[in-house]
Amino acid sequence: MIVVMNASCSDIQIEQVFAFLHKHQLEGHLSRGIERTVIGVLGNTNGQRGTAGNIGEEIEGALQGLAGVEDVLRVSKPYKLASREFHPEDTVVEVPSACTDSGVVRIGAKEVVMMAGPCTVESEAQLMKTAQAVYEAGAVILRGGAFKPSTSPYGFRGMGEKGLKLLAKARAEFGMAIVTEVLTPADVALVSEYADILQIGTRNMQNYMLLDEVGRSARPIMLKRGMSATLEEWLLAAEYILTQGNPDVILCERGIRTFEKATRNTMDISAIPLVKKLSHLPIVADPSQGTGRRDIVDAMSLAAIASGADGLLIEVHPHPEEALKDGAQSLRIEQFQTLMPQASMVAQACNRQFVRPTHQAQPII
Ligand code: PEP
Ligand code: MN
Repeated sequence: MIVVMNASCSDIQIEQVFAFLHKHQLEGHLSRGIERTVIGVLGNTNGQRGTAGNIGEEIEGALQGLAGVEDVLRVSKPYKLASREFHPEDTVVEVPSACTDSGVVRIGAKEVVMMAGPCTVESEAQLMKTAQAVYEAGAVILRGGAFKPSTSPYGFRGMGEKGLKLLAKARAEFGMAIVTEVLTPADVALVSEYADILQIGTRNMQNYMLLDEVGRSARPIMLKRGMSATLEEWLLAAEYILTQGNPDVILCERGIRTFEKATRNTMDISAIPLVKKLSHLPIVADPSQGTGRRDIVDAMSLAAIASGADGLLIEVHPHPEEALKDGAQSLRIEQFQTLMPQASMVAQACNRQFVRPTHQAQPII
């Protein structure tokens, strides 16, 4: 249920709605938009099982009658705070960045954001070389895993805090913001000390304790789609983070598991425009995990931009054949340099442009 307040409602009237909700064991979640102020009603508005009468209708009627209330709407989706109905305007997530004129990168505004870097931080030389290359080509956010999930227990699981320190060093050098994965609730505080955006990986999309914990964090969260998750399950995972009070969720489509073996995952391009209809949250695309093949990362990147993605997350490695992780899907530096102007042209054809780092006075074409 969503309570839409009058444009001129007072703070006292909002408080009265909250008091009414608390009296009925319900929680309210306030969203003050430019156009309207709404209160999302969280909790069971259908009454207890076996209760006579339709309590939902009674609550709805009583809310309608409160001062300052313009309308009460039923939300048809199981997720509320993540839904477009609750928040018709696009959410824009702001990340501090020393490499743009404004000092921030806005994800979910009209501009396209390039996030690139190695799958995994392997050494200072590997990270710095990659960071410099992606920065010079136009990336404004640096990716790189320090705590890595590994399908095999024998695989490389990252450098841990040493990797985080190297990411911070690269940020100090180039000004790009950092996105890196956090695997457990116990590591959220540590990773938050270094990262500008916390990444929740595909394997943890339904790790509800972790979602709760990052929901209490002050950092924006990039929530990857679970490899077998429906859009509804994905948006319910986002709802976990939002209900804990963190409004800055960026969704990331990274491919889903299908019967097809030619690719590591099937990149679900259709998810991008669909999610935009269902939710106000920004969505970026990861064509590296999405395909598992560097020879089609470029094509999927262009398709994602044309489909309305707010940004791209791309793996780049100076020597992919020597990579400790995901070499087959990592672009060579030259391939990334070739992709950037192409991606920029597709963005322009869609009446958009890339967020430009300060060192690039002109558009990236
Ligand atoms: C990654 O970004 O390197 C990664 C492990 O992603 P995912 O969780 O989507 O597999
Ligand atoms: Mn990877």
